[in-house]
Formats: sequence, structure tokens, C-alpha cells
Amino acid sequence: MTFQNTREFAQELDAQDTLHHYRNEFIFPQVNGRKVIYFTGNSLGLQPKRTKAFVDEVMDDWAKLAVEGHFYADKPWWDYHERFANPLSKIVGALPSEVTVMNTLTVNLHLLMVSFYRPTAKRFKILCEAKAFPSDQYMIQSQVHFHSQHLGMDPSDMIVEIQRREGEHNIRLEDVLAKIEEVGDELALVLIGGVNYYTGQVFDMKTITEAGHKAGAYVGWDLAHAAGNIKLELHDWEVDFAAWCSYKYMNSGPGNASGCFVHLKHHTDDDLPRFAGWWGHNKERRFKMEPQFDPVEGADGWQISNLPILTLAPYLASVEMFAEVGMDKLIEKRDRITSYLEFILHEIDKEVKSTFEIITPTNPLERASQLSVFLHGEGRSLFEYLMKNGVITDWREPNVIRLAPVPLYCSFEDMYEFGQILKQGIQSHG
Ligand SMILES: *Cc1c(COP(=O)(O)O)cnc(C)c1O
Repeated sequence: MTFQNTREFAQELDAQDTLHHYRNEFIFPQVNGRKVIYFTGNSLGLQPKRTKAFVDEVMDDWAKLAVEGHFYADKPWWDYHERFANPLSKIVGALPSEVTVMNTLTVNLHLLMVSFYRPTAKRFKILCEAKAFPSDQYMIQSQVHFHSQHLGMDPSDMIVEIQRREGEHNIRLEDVLAKIEEVGDELALVLIGGVNYYTGQVFDMKTITEAGHKAGAYVGWDLAHAAGNIKLELHDWEVDFAAWCSYKYMNSGPGNASGCFVHLKHHTDDDLPRFAGWWGHNKERRFKMEPQFDPVEGADGWQISNLPILTLAPYLASVEMFAEVGMDKLIEKRDRITSYLEFILHEIDKEVKSTFEIITPTNPLERASQLSVFLHGEGRSLFEYLMKNGVITDWREPNVIRLAPVPLYCSFEDMYEFGQILKQGIQSHG
């Protein structure tokens, strides 16, 4: 399709968009009396209008039933998390028994590494991306430090980072595969973000997972920017484990619960160590208060504490919305609106004579709902101009704004409007 940089054309795309009405399901902040153009759904998704009723329901049950709510609420709390298994498994391409919800993302990756990162004197290296999200870097550093003391190793020998080539913004698949082969039988774990938070690059998880397994390693993925954004087939790709947060593309609210995946092939492996608690215990026997831990077969067996129902309630509202829409439709719109945004950026760039550069891959298979724009020249003041004019983006050092035209609530007209504001901003700061 040939795009046009006009309001009428953008409105026509909105009229053709079968998901357009979902925009009315969300609450938008206002700037200058108008709904903002919201590009930071990759950081914190907007609040769905239906969410409050899910939270109120728990508050009401607690008021009316108190402790009895565990068993007699309409959605009983003791197995509330089981309502996620079906819708969530569809979002990440898993079997219902392979997914669970608990804790928060970094905590879950640590817990999963108890099972899947057990370095020995021979096989001890973790392969990750250079410049990973800071929490992942600290997590991996602390994990190798923890193990290095027992192994008598230097922690810096235990982390292998995949670098970008000089002058390139993205990591090449061939470089990941070459690194996996090079590390070979010293490789214990591959742990990468499925979608890079900074550039928006999508990794070929299927191929990398296969290569990691060929080297004899476990392969796990941090899906913070992938869950609810890209097509995932975690079961078929034979991914060992994965975790994601729910407050980015999944709109569950600030700091909210994480989802986890553990592949079926590990569900009955008794040799796999894990940190246990009563919520991972055989649910028929949970309240018999037995002394011996007998894990639930499935990802739920990795749960530890009884679940924070007030935080699961907004997440449940969100997965129900995803179940209605389905990932395929979402992805279809995502690709179209992202391409339209890319087009608008190029048009404006021509009009203002090249003051910025898109560092996200141009190949649609290597990107999803985010374009990262490197601003040459006066970046920070342009960013502030956008915010003042109702365009909510975020700023990442040294000079990058990230734009996520989230398909559930962004419109094509938003993209057009953004282009006009951007142009005025560059001209008034030029
Ligand atoms: C957002 C994000 C996190 C956040 O971790 P929390 O434990 O939820 O605070 C971690 N890793 C990546 C890659 C992220 O994008």
C-alpha cells in the first residue's frame, strides 16, 4: 500500500481498522484538554476502563466474605491464578500447564535460574546481549557472583556478551550463532531479551534456542517487550523457560505481576532444583499442611507464596481483552501502524532535512511495535517540546526517543498528528 501524509488518509486507515474501537476501552491522560498521543505503552500500558471493576470485585469480596473469599468468592482466591492459564498460554504460544503468574519479572528470572543456571567447573558461562536492560545485567552479574564463590572462579569469565558490530545499532543473528558455537561446551545458559528494549530489535528466538540446545545449554528468554507484542511459540520452539512483566504491552498497571513459562519437558524432572513454597505444592493436598513438598506438575509448581489477588485482578482484565482480540489481529494492525509511523517519520525527515535516524531494524520480521529514533543535534529540548504538546514518548540516553504505536489504542490519525507536531518542534528548535 502507498501511504500518504495527510489527515484524510490517516482517517481512512482508521475507518478500515477493525480494532479501532478498542481505543475507547482505554483511559487517556489529557494535555491541553486533548487526549495524548501515547507512545510509551512499551513502558507502562494505558489503563483499560474495564480494569477497575475487576479490582472492585476483589475489594467487595474481601469486605463481604473476609477469609471465606478464598473459597466462596465468585472468583475464589485460592485458585484465582488458574484463570490465566488459557488466555495467557495463547498469548505466548504455550500449553496451559506451561504458564503461571507470580511475583515480578526480575524476581522470577532469578527463581528460574535456580533451576536452569547451575554452573559446573566445565559448563559455567551465560550468554547474553551486550547492553541488555540494566536489571538483566545486574541480575546476571549477581547470579555469576553467587556461583563463582563456590566454583572458585572469576565472575568476569562467566558472562559472555554478544556485541554489536562497529557502527551498527543491532545485533546480527549470525554473530549470536557464532558466539554460541565458540563458547560450545562451556555454555550453561543463553538468556537474552526477546525484543531489545532500546532498539526494538526482535531476535530469532527459534533459531537461537535451537543453537543453544545444540551446544548443550538451557535457553531462557526475558519477554518484557515481547509478551503481548509479538507472535510467540514458546512450546514449539522448545524454549526452556521465560518470564515477562505485564505492565508494558499487557496494560496491567504499574509494577504488576509477572508471567512465567516452563516447558512441559521439565515438569516431571525431579532432579531440577527449585525454591519451594506452599503455593507450588500439590493443590489437592495444600491445606493438609504436610511436611514433604510435592510440587504441582506444571509451571504452577514454581509458585512460592499465595498470590496477591489485588494485583492479579487488573492483569486478568487485560488477558481477557487479549483473548477477545487475539494475537493475529493485533499483529496485523501493529505492522500496518508501525509502517505508517515509519513512513511519516521519513516524510518529516525529508521536509526538515535529515535531523534524525531510525535505529530499529527496517525488516518487519526483526521489529515489532517500537521505532527508536536517534536525534542528531538538539535532542532533549525536542523531546520536551513533544511532551508539552501532548506526545508522550520516552527519552533514553544518549539521544534516543522510543515510539511504540501500540495497536490496541493508538490510531493512524495519531501518527499523522504526531508528524505535524514533530515537524513544528524541529523547526522551532532548528
Ligand atoms: C521492563 C524490563 C524489566 C523490568 O523488570 P522488573 O523486575 O519488572 O522491574 C526487566 N527486563 C527487561 C528486558 C525489561 O524491559
